[in-house]
Amino acid sequence: MALRSIRTIGDEILLRPSREVTELTPRLKELIGDMYDTLYEADGVGLAAVQVGVLRRIIVIDVGDGPITLINPRLLEKSGEQKGNEGCLSVPGKVGLVTRPNYVKILYYDENMQPQELEATELLARGICHELDHLEGELYVDRVEGELKDVEEEEEENEGKGKGKGKGRGRK
Ligand code: ZN
Repeated sequence: MALRSIRTIGDEILLRPSREVTELTPRLKELIGDMYDTLYEADGVGLAAVQVGVLRRIIVIDVGDGPITLINPRLLEKSGEQKGNEGCLSVPGKVGLVTRPNYVKILYYDENMQPQELEATELLARGICHELDHLEGELYVDRVEGELKDVEEEEEENEGKGKGKGKGRGRK
């Protein structure tokens, strides 16, 4: 396993849709291991394969409840709404306000290529939506309401208000 370099905004690969995985080859298994190494090293909560330059529909995500690998994920249901700050490992140093569903249900394949369903709410639902966008070549910056802010600026604002916005701050 190894760290992979994270592609950042301006790299055109981030705007391209990823292809379905038909077989989990040893090479793709190694990729998944590397994606976790890269995710944890960067202190992120989610990473799509395209972010390390591989146009495959693979997501790794960990919002603090353990790792989940999503292969060929597809949205089945969504409901509700949550507004919160979002960041992205491919857009370093920035955060912006994004509205997402508060609940999602997805179909995906696990690392044995077995179909699974997952229901998620709040931070995990936000993370999944953010990563699904990556698979379509979309970045959260196009969904931001108002201005994209510098991370430091946002933290100062929160201090001023006397309350932190811990939730939803994770970079994906
Ligand atoms: Zn992202």
